[in-house]
Amino acid sequence: MSRFFSEKYNALTPYTPGEQPRERKFIKLNTNENPYPPSPLSVRYAAEAAESLNLYSDIQCTALTERLFELYGIGKDEVLFTNGSDEALNFCFMAFCDAAHPAVFADITYGFYPVFAALNGIPYEEIPLADDMSIRVEDYLGINKTIFIANPNAPTGRALPLADIERIIKSNPDSIVVIDEAYVDFAEASAVGLIRKYDNLVVTQTFSKSRSLAGGRLGMAIGNHSLMADLNTIKFSTNPYNVSALTQAAGLGCLMDEAYTRKNISEIIRCRRILTDGLRANGFTVIPSATNFVFAKHESLSGEYIYTALRERGILVRHFTLERIKDYNRITVGTADEVAAVIAAVKNITEGTL
Ligand SMILES: *Cc1c(COP(=O)(O)O)cnc(C)c1O
Repeated sequence: MSRFFSEKYNALTPYTPGEQPRERKFIKLNTNENPYPPSPLSVRYAAEAAESLNLYSDIQCTALTERLFELYGIGKDEVLFTNGSDEALNFCFMAFCDAAHPAVFADITYGFYPVFAALNGIPYEEIPLADDMSIRVEDYLGINKTIFIANPNAPTGRALPLADIERIIKSNPDSIVVIDEAYVDFAEASAVGLIRKYDNLVVTQTFSKSRSLAGGRLGMAIGNHSLMADLNTIKFSTNPYNVSALTQAAGLGCLMDEAYTRKNISEIIRCRRILTDGLRANGFTVIPSATNFVFAKHESLSGEYIYTALRERGILVRHFTLERIKDYNRITVGTADEVAAVIAAVKNITEGTL
């Protein structure tokens, strides 16, 4: 830290992203990227858009907004496109939290929430998950604080049924509830259908996971028009050109080719079953997953041991040192071949130590 760094950030511990090794020597299953490339239409649209990079990007994301309306009936004043959904989440912390409206979220959830709270000087509370790593709905009823719930949750992979999400929204009418749906396309149900029923609901989604555009950085916040107006105020006070022209084009290509996304999602769900079964057959407890990753712990080998042994075998997964989950690893569901490689490696690791 230099002697010039603002005092208000003295105690800030930034988010630690998963490793992004530049060499291609690993099977990379540590950051929940999609194993398939973007839709060919995304690539073509982005290449075409590159010819106009002398101009600033469209601050309204007009084409994306219109396509979203065609596909899902989401109105142009009910959505805000962002630079990844991380930006949408940060905007929500900025717009809807303060000393009178502290943030609350689970103790085991997306590691960026406490960082956004700290960055913005917002007090926050962590609510422990139940022993089986599920969210206890009762803990969130009538608490009147700004609630952040990743549904499905990361890194656990568990999802709450929509009825439970609705109970939480309904019981906190004077507080904002943000549902982070980064993984919703691998799960059963989205809360987006509730945005006209509840004026305290914001849903965030991303193009990074199911839509193969992690490197493009495209996300969105969806909710009641007056909430989106608040988020727009934040956007226009930070970076009006937050979504690049290339990213808007790539995102549009993706939304013009939903069949491609759907095909990849069903293949990932099929492989998730195979990975879950393969891990269980080798002595792992695997939390049922509604996402594109599994969270797994071996009956006798430590999480760190498994992480290192996989790494030595060329497979990169995510291990967290947090006490409560240190015996788990989070493993992204890759292609069928990658899943087969993981299963072969864990078989080798677990048999080697018998
Ligand atoms: C990946 C992820 C995000 C955001 O990813 P972006 O790439 O910024 O859209 C948000 N929440 C959770 C829980 C995630 O896992």
